[in-house]
Amino acid sequence: MRPLTCPACGARVFFDNLDCPCGAAVAYLPDADVFALLGDGDGAADGPAEGAAPAAPCANREAASCNWAADAPGALCRSCAMTVVFPDLSVGENRALWVRTEAAKRRVLRGLGRWGWFTLADPGPRPEFHMLSEDTASGETRVMMGHLSGAITINVTEADPAERVARREAFDEPYRTVAGHFRHEIGHFLFERLAAEPGFSDAFRALFGDERADYGEALAAHHANGAPPDWAARHVSAYASAHPHEDWAESFAHVLHLWAILGGFVGEGLSAPCLPHPDYDPYAAEDGAEVIQAAGELCISLNAINRAMGIGDLYPFVLSETAREKLVFAHSWLRAGPGAG
Ligand SMILES: [Zn+2]
Ligand SMILES: [Zn+2]
Ligand SMILES: [Zn+2]
Repeated sequence: MRPLTCPACGARVFFDNLDCPCGAAVAYLPDADVFALLGDGDGAADGPAEGAAPAAPCANREAASCNWAADAPGALCRSCAMTVVFPDLSVGENRALWVRTEAAKRRVLRGLGRWGWFTLADPGPRPEFHMLSEDTASGETRVMMGHLSGAITINVTEADPAERVARREAFDEPYRTVAGHFRHEIGHFLFERLAAEPGFSDAFRALFGDERADYGEALAAHHANGAPPDWAARHVSAYASAHPHEDWAESFAHVLHLWAILGGFVGEGLSAPCLPHPDYDPYAAEDGAEVIQAAGELCISLNAINRAMGIGDLYPFVLSETAREKLVFAHSWLRAGPGAG
């Protein structure tokens, strides 16, 4: 894994960049995980092109600062194409909140794409995102985030950092981000795809419990009584103790968190004694327990660096043995990719 670079000049280009400092307009090719020069989609590149074919811009390039390439001129990229419901962009800060929410989604999809999920090679269904805001033309409304029958509702209001921190404190959570919401809800979505795979359900229930237990009752009990005092012995988070479905979504999200942390670290060309070998790629690694161990050790150091700047821990979690087993299980199915069954 290497940092993303400009195809014109070779300089470093960051994941969200629309342009390189050399002046070249660039577009990210999600399946190849590289930048291409931006073209109009059916002609020569506008920049100082050489080599690779120019990429067509996503139709949301202007509207959402989306720097992903589309498969055809005038089309949306595969991330934007998954959003089917939008907040009223003429109201308040909704446009800026939606743009930030889409950026978080692209980052999450990049990680999943490393295992083939939702890429062109993935023949299975993909989620439809409903991006809603609490701020509407007719006043404040409540938005419930969640997954239902392939539709994932995300509250773009949480792209406002002050709102998000207020909620994190109200719910007494150690960590709350828009990327985290996407990772959690996509976990629910992919559960339904994986549950159709032979061997998944029995192995799942042996580790997480029976997800056919009444969900409404379990959630009501969780909200009334809170998590059991010893939740950390079995779960990655307090909320994960609410129901096997939530345990799965939380464990799934933490696989994506930890792989993003370690993948980001080695992607920067950095090395640490906890890495199994210098060219380690966590997305290619077969042994999930090995990645979790390395990422956990790395996070101890990264947390210390954050504390040096007076900010919160990068990864404010300690994983018990059972919680790790659940992450290893989720990783084994994620890594198998969409063509597994
Ligand atoms: Zn350049
Ligand atoms: Zn796009
Ligand atoms: Zn959930």
